[in-house]
Amino acid sequence: MNNNSQQFASDNYSGICPEAWAAMQAANQGHQRAYGDDEWTACAADHFRRLFETDCEVFFAFNGTAANSLALAALCQSYHSVICAESSHVETDECGAPEFFSNGSKLLTVKTEDGKLSSDAIREVALKRQDIHYPKPRVVTLTQSTEVGTVYQPGELARLSATCRELGLHLHMDGARFSNACASLGCTPAELTWKVGVDVLCFGGTKNGMAVGEAILFFNHELAEDFDYRCKQAGQLASKMRFLSAPWVGLLENGAWLRYGAHANHCAQLLAGLIADVPGVELMFPVQANGVFLQMPEPAIEALRGRGWRFYTFIGGAARFMCSWDTEEQRVRELAADIRAVMAC
Ligand SMILES: *Cc1c(COP(=O)(O)O)cnc(C)c1O
Repeated sequence: MNNNSQQFASDNYSGICPEAWAAMQAANQGHQRAYGDDEWTACAADHFRRLFETDCEVFFAFNGTAANSLALAALCQSYHSVICAESSHVETDECGAPEFFSNGSKLLTVKTEDGKLSSDAIREVALKRQDIHYPKPRVVTLTQSTEVGTVYQPGELARLSATCRELGLHLHMDGARFSNACASLGCTPAELTWKVGVDVLCFGGTKNGMAVGEAILFFNHELAEDFDYRCKQAGQLASKMRFLSAPWVGLLENGAWLRYGAHANHCAQLLAGLIADVPGVELMFPVQANGVFLQMPEPAIEALRGRGWRFYTFIGGAARFMCSWDTEEQRVRELAADIRAVMAC
């Protein structure tokens, strides 16, 4: 247990931020009512309503897979389908959980250039078949910021949601890295969600500095009907709920969620800047959030691994480097220097 130097494989390699930790400690005083009927959970939900400037319905789940899957299940019937990007987490990293929790709603994938859905692509998939033999499109899910580190501008979101409305589709947002998107765009949470027609947001806590936990926010109250039962049935109702909700109070009460998102983004910019002039290394996507995707020759990737760096290459063979709330600039510089070194070999 001695090699715990910072890595860039994922933003969930990081630990718990001080604000979340302090709130959990504060919640660990005396007794509180169970199953979400406690003061911390009420307080966290109020913080969300204040932050989003609206009276949304707030639920908590243990992880993003559950949050996304249950939210999508709430938006459709088993014979419906969900339109998503081919690279989306719901498609590639949730082991069929969206289909499982919805009792069979099929995911219809769309190819994207930069991880982002377009109105044309949505329209094409939604209108491809309208006969009884095909699962009826009912939901669009998009990821903000995306799996490839890009962000949707508010105008893009507004256009997508207009397309959804026109086609009778609900709009779900996977916000595992929502804080990075807010920081990147300088937009308020409201401007990136309900004000542009998002029905449900899964707001990620884990990658934002919490130990565990995601919040599910319904801006459309009707869609939240019986969602508490859905969470309970799926094993997502924490009996000591205050330990899932208190860290949110810590993150939200003084803006730590946004500062950490901005810090992670800043570190990604730093990395991209430091390697920009290294011959043979190509940025695969614009760096708009906390991820840097580099196309590098295979021997260089191996050499980098040989120097002890951990990272994934699951997107088109590109090396993915994710920065997190606690990434040290010095560590970014070390990584950049090693990338330069292995490319010089
Ligand atoms: C990390 C992540 C999630 C959540 O994943 P869990 O491991 O289930 O918590 C969801 N969506 C995206 C885009 C992610 O990167």
